[in-house]
Amino acid sequence: MINIGVLALQGAVREHVQAIEANDVNVVIVKKVEQLEDIDGLVFPGGESTTMRRLINKYGFYEPLKDFGKNGKPIFGTCAGAILMAKELVGHAEPHIALMDMKVERNAFGRQRESFEALLKVKGIGDDVQGVFIRAPIIVEVGKDVEVLAEYEGEIVAARQGPFLACSYHPELTDDVRMHQYFVNMVRNIVVPT
Ligand code: GLN
Repeated sequence: MINIGVLALQGAVREHVQAIEANDVNVVIVKKVEQLEDIDGLVFPGGESTTMRRLINKYGFYEPLKDFGKNGKPIFGTCAGAILMAKELVGHAEPHIALMDMKVERNAFGRQRESFEALLKVKGIGDDVQGVFIRAPIIVEVGKDVEVLAEYEGEIVAARQGPFLACSYHPELTDDVRMHQYFVNMVRNIVVPT
């Protein structure tokens, strides 16, 4: 059976676990670096990216996570998780795990729209995907190898680059498990189980 981890240093972990479990895979709650060896794919949850980064450094996850991605293992970042994936961040000198060729702006929908919901058309998934946005980032630029999967009012809110998937919203906070299903299929197609 495929093993999918959820990075459990901070943020919306339990909801991701439930959404992934709905897809008939084994879920690993990742709190220690050694657990990365047991998993075929990993979710970076939403939460607070600077706090998450601090804990990533504190618990020695920085290099191992970068290596996990560089080895082509699939990663799905939601909201703060997408911020961790970006190679460039607006207003920040340095990115975090920096795996996807995209520039991301944090809290980019502004104060008036701190949190909202919208129906999204997501390529490969459907035209009725419920997007829950909470102090959400926007993907403001993507490189040529990045496929845009969804836009909201002309702003990019979901994208994929090979084994990496990122979205600005929180699919784990809805009953709709199709985004997780999409990621599980990515893992199934990329990883050949031994
Ligand atoms: N605004 C948060 C950040 O910058 C992300 C918000 C979220 O994950 N819901 O990390």
